[in-house]
Amino acid sequence: MDPMEQVFIGIGSNRGDPAGICRDAVGALDRTGSVRVLRMSSLYRSKPVGVLDQDWFVNGVASCETDLEPLELLDRVLEIEKAFGRRRLVRWGPRTLDLDLLCYGRRRVDHWRLTIPHPRLHRRLFVLVPLAEIAPDWVHPGRQLTARQLIDQLMKQDHDQVVVPLAG
Ligand code: AMP
Repeated sequence: MDPMEQVFIGIGSNRGDPAGICRDAVGALDRTGSVRVLRMSSLYRSKPVGVLDQDWFVNGVASCETDLEPLELLDRVLEIEKAFGRRRLVRWGPRTLDLDLLCYGRRRVDHWRLTIPHPRLHRRLFVLVPLAEIAPDWVHPGRQLTARQLIDQLMKQDHDQVVVPLAG
């Protein structure tokens, strides 16, 4: 068996019951057999980025281990997104479920289907806040900064992003 790698997966939804969908997605990841969820962050509400005229999102980050190769893992998460009925009509538009591979151990992947670390990871507060919560010691493989340091950097440049804990 291939050695296990630690991966972080970003989870987001802004359709139907988004918190329920995010929680169910964690269960679906765990049930794939080759992915084990080690830790799930709290859920947060975030103001949409890009297409503003849509509902706020619910976001979280799961820490997992897997023996799948990065592209195999991508196929697996795309299957899960599809099973949740996602239709990708508008880039950054409403979605039932969005799963992003944020990082895969310390590896870098530069493939036409997959970029790891995720290219927008360091610019998205809705990813960095839950990541900082569950992995305070994690360091971005390219930027050599922790999630907390990336948050501090981002807050100096971008005052439009809003991420708040999900009530209840
Ligand atoms: P989006 O609709 O913006 O979430 O884009 C989804 C597509 O981005 C997928 O079909 C992947 O082929 C591609 N992609 C590239 N890098 C990543 C990544 N790190 N995680 C998830 N999808 C990725």
